[in-house]
Amino acid sequence: MKFGLVAHRSHRMGPDCALLRWAKRCEPDLFALKLQLHATGGAHDALVVNNLLGSQIISIGHGRDGGLMRLVSRAAGGLKPEDAIDGVFFFIDPINPTSTYPETLALKRQCVIHGKPFVATLAGAIEWVGVEMALAGLVSSSTSTSTSGGEKLAPLESQVVALIAHDALKSEMLAFAVDYFDLLSRFGGRVATGTTGSKLNAMAWSIGWPISQPWVTCYQSGPLGGDAQIAELVLDRRCQKVFFFEDPHVARQHEADIQLLDRAVYSAGDVTTCFNTPAMTRRWAKAMSKPGFDLQ
Ligand code: PGA
Repeated sequence: MKFGLVAHRSHRMGPDCALLRWAKRCEPDLFALKLQLHATGGAHDALVVNNLLGSQIISIGHGRDGGLMRLVSRAAGGLKPEDAIDGVFFFIDPINPTSTYPETLALKRQCVIHGKPFVATLAGAIEWVGVEMALAGLVSSSTSTSTSGGEKLAPLESQVVALIAHDALKSEMLAFAVDYFDLLSRFGGRVATGTTGSKLNAMAWSIGWPISQPWVTCYQSGPLGGDAQIAELVLDRRCQKVFFFEDPHVARQHEADIQLLDRAVYSAGDVTTCFNTPAMTRRWAKAMSKPGFDLQ
């Protein structure tokens, strides 16, 4: 498996920066997974200086030399099959101007289009390594499992999940919620944008959820500001997971709101995770449902 790796300056400087915290905590798991990290210059250099991850990091060049742009091509499949990457860890600082550069947006977009994980926060990167370990049948030392004694991630019962789907993906969201109803019901709370939420509530009531209570709390419809309302919950640390089934193939009238929500997630990246595709979300749910494994 090969992942791209990028870290904005503030996330790769100082001993407590997100990149080093993640690399120290997850190094044994990343070795066990034999996960190659194709890193842009700054992230590569920070890991080398700190003697982390050894031969598993490969430099693809600094951002100014096109490193980030190369990753976009490789998320789309690259020029040769062996160049393709399977996902991206990108420690994004929303205050860094490059967080809005076309290559940053394109990297996320190509990951979404190809159903590859785009993991943009510290909390997400730690959890995602646990997901890959669980799916590989390996015992994680960086996240809690039944046997490893690793550091525990926050239990689902203490988290609120946001469920959002663009129109072309609403049926996939409903199918996902039906397939993993019990898992999603474990969350301390569920919130949604208006139309997605009303469909999810109708589904929950139809399969026996008490009619007197909504299964999800609905905010405004996305184009009317629902994404921004959920972003405020994220900023307040009152929503820790965002499952956003994004449609990358249409022009979105409320593109600014969608990017605002992404940026709120990056701001609260120590506790918040966002999954942008059905493929990524189902992979997480599959890992969570593995007998003997419980990441949270
Ligand atoms: P909706 O919003 O659930 O109200 O359709 C989703 C979105 O477009 O962000």
